[in-house]
Amino acid sequence: MHASSPEGSTNGAVGGIDLGGTKIEAVVADAQYRVLGSARHPTPTGGGPADVASAMASAMAEAARAAQLAPAKLRGVGVGSPGNVDSEAGTVARADNLPGWYASFPLAAALQSALGTPVVLGNDVSVATNAEFRLGAGRPYRSLLGVFWGTGVGGGLILAGEPWHGRGAAGEIGHMVIVEDGRQCPCGRRGCLEAYAGRGALETHARALQAKGEKTRLFELAAEHGRDRLTSSIWARALEHGDKLAVKLIDRAVLALGAGIASAVNLLDVEAVIIGGGLGLRFGEPFRERIADAMGPHLFNDTRPPAVVLAALGDTGGALGAALLVGG
Ligand SMILES: [Zn+2]
Repeated sequence: MHASSPEGSTNGAVGGIDLGGTKIEAVVADAQYRVLGSARHPTPTGGGPADVASAMASAMAEAARAAQLAPAKLRGVGVGSPGNVDSEAGTVARADNLPGWYASFPLAAALQSALGTPVVLGNDVSVATNAEFRLGAGRPYRSLLGVFWGTGVGGGLILAGEPWHGRGAAGEIGHMVIVEDGRQCPCGRRGCLEAYAGRGALETHARALQAKGEKTRLFELAAEHGRDRLTSSIWARALEHGDKLAVKLIDRAVLALGAGIASAVNLLDVEAVIIGGGLGLRFGEPFRERIADAMGPHLFNDTRPPAVVLAALGDTGGALGAALLVGG
């Protein structure tokens, strides 16, 4: 009667999708969150939310095929999404990095009908933080701050062992004000951490300085590598070449991160800070140390600084965190 599960059984397998501005990462994981299959598709650059949803469904179907499962056999699929996510309604609005995504779109329902399994939505940065807490670098701690240093600077919080969302928008460390009336932030306000450290703001600033006559090879390097943006690896290459402008901007970014993260630590006194994101992962260990050093002068409780550690799950952290949303 009671069938025993053989080793490697896929009973209880779940799906997770990380919806990013440039790529859609999908994984299928077993009940212990070991990855059974994965797929990565580019995020559509035109069309609208329905096109993005169908690209997400294809990525999930491909990950399921790699795991030798039909999507409908999954216990559920979790999604980490940018923008304003309403988990209860299953909708996403104002996902600015995605094509034509301003109004509220019923993403959970669209994916559910395409995949034939229940779909749960969460905020992309919150789910990535929770993945590090449950499965990655955050496992030894009960409270932590995840800092995702990439195009923007995202943040996620775990307090007393539970994700903290506030009224739904907590963790926006990128918009901590580090310079009153400072540089313009992509959010439209001034002096935010992200205005000094986000890859998008860094590129805007680099372009403006180049237009004023400062020399840099950043844009040549991007062109040589067929990139129309300054990606994390272009920044890393420019630093390796000792490009003065790149060095100056990244040095400033590190100081900004130190001030913003230390301020958050002064308020919350978390045990650990986890550094992830495209730039965070690309720059790695030397920058983990530099950020910890930059926090030092701003820490009120400077005899007991928090642990500062690198995210351990890499590129699949977001999708695994999304899979954790399925619960059970
Ligand atoms: Zn801002």
